[in-house]
Amino acid sequence: MRTLIIAAVGALLAAGPTAGQSTPDPAVARALARLERDNAWTIEQQIALCEIPAPPFGEQARGAEYARRFEALGYRATIDQVGNVIATRPGSGGGRRLVLAAHLDTVFPEGTDVRVRREGTRLSGPGIGDDCRGLAVVLAIARAMALERIPTRGDVVFVGNVGEEGPGNLRGVRHLFEHGSAGRIDAFVSVDGVGLGMVTAGVGSNRYRVTFSGPGGHSYGDFGMPNPMHAMGRAIAAIGDLAVPAEPRTVFNVGVVEGGTSINSITMKAVMQVDLRSESAAALARLDSAFRRTVAQAVVQEKARWPGSDKSLSADIGVIGLRPAGTQPDTLWLVRAARDAARTLGIPMPRGGAGSTDANLPISLGIPALAVDGGGRGDGAHSLGEWYDDGADGFRGPQWILLLTLAAAGR
Ligand SMILES: [Zn+2]
Repeated sequence: MRTLIIAAVGALLAAGPTAGQSTPDPAVARALARLERDNAWTIEQQIALCEIPAPPFGEQARGAEYARRFEALGYRATIDQVGNVIATRPGSGGGRRLVLAAHLDTVFPEGTDVRVRREGTRLSGPGIGDDCRGLAVVLAIARAMALERIPTRGDVVFVGNVGEEGPGNLRGVRHLFEHGSAGRIDAFVSVDGVGLGMVTAGVGSNRYRVTFSGPGGHSYGDFGMPNPMHAMGRAIAAIGDLAVPAEPRTVFNVGVVEGGTSINSITMKAVMQVDLRSESAAALARLDSAFRRTVAQAVVQEKARWPGSDKSLSADIGVIGLRPAGTQPDTLWLVRAARDAARTLGIPMPRGGAGSTDANLPISLGIPALAVDGGGRGDGAHSLGEWYDDGADGFRGPQWILLLTLAAAGR
C-alpha cells in the first residue's frame, strides 16, 4: 500500500501543474499514511468541535477552541476582528499563497442540543458533516504537514472562518478578501461537507425582505384604500410568472410571508422574503431587475385599483444577503490539480458542480477557488437528523485534500 502511494505521489509531482521535482517524496507518502493511521484523531476533532455550539454570529467559543488546537500542534493562531481563526504555515518562497478553510458556523440556533451520538463509524448530531467534518480535515492536514515536516514553496494559511451559512452572508471570507486579515490570497480551498465531490462554480443569490406598508384601517369602515397585503399578493403572482432561463440555471422563490393584524383589519404591514439565484452573474442581475419591477408595479396597480383614495402605499426592499455568482473554466490549474490528486489516490474522479459556498466570493473576484468535500458520507445537513459515516475509508478525504494543498502551494 505504501509503495503504491509513493509511486503515485511521484507521478503526481511529475504531472502536477506546479511540479518542482519528479522523484517520489517519502515525506508526502508518510503524511498520507499518517492520515490513514491517525484517522481516530481526526474523528475525535470532528466530535469535540461539533459539541461546541456555533450558531450564526455565535461562533466565538468554537473558534477559540479551534485556535487552541492549532496552537497545540505548534502553530501560532490568531483570531481576526470578525472571528476567523488563522494559522499560517510559511513557505520557502516563490509559490502561491493558499488558504485552506472550513467554516465554524452552523445553521442551528442557540440552545440546540449539539451532542454527538456515535454508533460504530456513524456519528449523528447537528453540524457533524456541515462543517465539523471540514474543520477536522483542515486540522488533520495541518497536523500531518507539521509532523512530517513537509515544506511548500507558497504559504499555506489554515482558516476556520465565520459566517458561511445564510444569515452570515459570507462575512468571514468577505473579511479575508476585502480586509486582508489573512494577507494576500492566490488560491482558496474550502473543505465543506461530506463525500468526495467538489464545487467549481458559485451559484449567486440575492435575498431580500420586502415590506409593503400603508396606514391600515378597518376592513369594513375604511374599505376603498390601497391594501399592503393585496399589493404583496399582486407582487407574488407577478414573481411567480417571471421568465428565467433553464441554462444558466436561474431560479426564484418567495419563501416566507408575514404580516396582518386581524381578519377584519386592513394591515399596516405585509412582508415577504424572496430568494433569487443563478449560476450566472448576468442572469442574476437581469432577474433582480425584473423582480424590482414587479414590486414597483404591484404598488402602482394596487394604488390604481383605488383611484379615489389619498392613502399611502409603499414597498421597501431590504437586503438579507448577497452572494456573488461566478464560474471558472474546467481547465483552471486548481481544478486540474484536484482531479490529478484524485487520480493519484485512485478515488472517483470528482465532477465539478455549482454551489453556494465560501468559494463564491473568491470565484467572483477571479481568484481560483474550490469547495471540496471532506470524505466519508452522510446526509441531513441543516437538519437535527444530520449524520456522518466515516465507513472504512473516510481518510481518503483528507488524503485527497492534502495532495491538492501541496500541488496548489507548490513543492
Ligand atoms: Zn457548509
